[in-house]
Amino acid sequence: MNVNIVQSVAGMQALSEQLRLSGRSIGLVPTMGFFHEGHLELMRVARRHADTVVVSLFVNPTQFGEGEDLEAYPRDMEGDLTKADAVGVDHVFLPSADEMYPKGFQTRVCVDRLTRFLCGPSRPGHFDGVTTVVAKLFHITRPHLAVFGQKDYQQLAAISRMVQDLSMDIQIIGVPTVREPDGLAMSSRNSYLTPKEREAALCLSASLGLAQDMIDAGERNAAVIRDAVEQRIRREPLARIDYVNLCDPVTLEDLDTLESEALLALAVNLGKARLIDNRVLECNSP
Ligand code: AMP
Repeated sequence: MNVNIVQSVAGMQALSEQLRLSGRSIGLVPTMGFFHEGHLELMRVARRHADTVVVSLFVNPTQFGEGEDLEAYPRDMEGDLTKADAVGVDHVFLPSADEMYPKGFQTRVCVDRLTRFLCGPSRPGHFDGVTTVVAKLFHITRPHLAVFGQKDYQQLAAISRMVQDLSMDIQIIGVPTVREPDGLAMSSRNSYLTPKEREAALCLSASLGLAQDMIDAGERNAAVIRDAVEQRIRREPLARIDYVNLCDPVTLEDLDTLESEALLALAVNLGKARLIDNRVLECNSP
């Protein structure tokens, strides 16, 4: 394997400094590991845009709420390193929790409004955990660009906002959601699904398609589309809806009437898994 593993913050910072001094651009892909094609696609995009690709692999405890799946979160370090190596990643930053959060840690980065919608209410503190750890990862790896998935749409929006608000000199690249052949958005948490739940999970992507079909047929009333999406999901007795939202793709505020573009975002519980998916619906066709 060619991939280099760095475990300490100081070691990673020294390496980033050296890379920058030698004129090499750095592309960062932050992850929590258990790699699937979605993660690997982010790495390939980083590979195309930067001279050096750094992947961080850290299951960040501060973005998990009480009763969430921090301990159960799937891990496969050996497999991850092999996969990262195969797509040409140069360095994997693999810190321990103590390395990232030394005794006395008490600082938080909070993106205020964007995080109040969608997953905000059901996951209090989650986005603060995300923006804080990503801000730290930016300071440690000093990337010129960083790559995130559009599957976690609200996360990408919050990070883009943070970068703008705090004048971080980092280009943020969003990558379209990578799906299984039958439409299910790839996710490390799909590994929690039983075969029956896996089948039922198709209701997420199917309902996103249904919404676009309704818009193509002329529907513009958000409540009508939302009801149809909820009904489609409820056809699966195993699926429990957390939220179905039609909102502005920039502010994430609820929409009553659809005009140009609308974000349809879903969160659905299936057994032990909480799955999210989204689609930016195009409303321009007649
Ligand atoms: P995670 O390891 O789940 O924290 O995800 C790390 C990065 O991969 C985040 O930027 C995610 O948005 C992205 N990601 C996860 N699943 C997918 C997917 N199916 N398609 C594209 N990107 C994804």
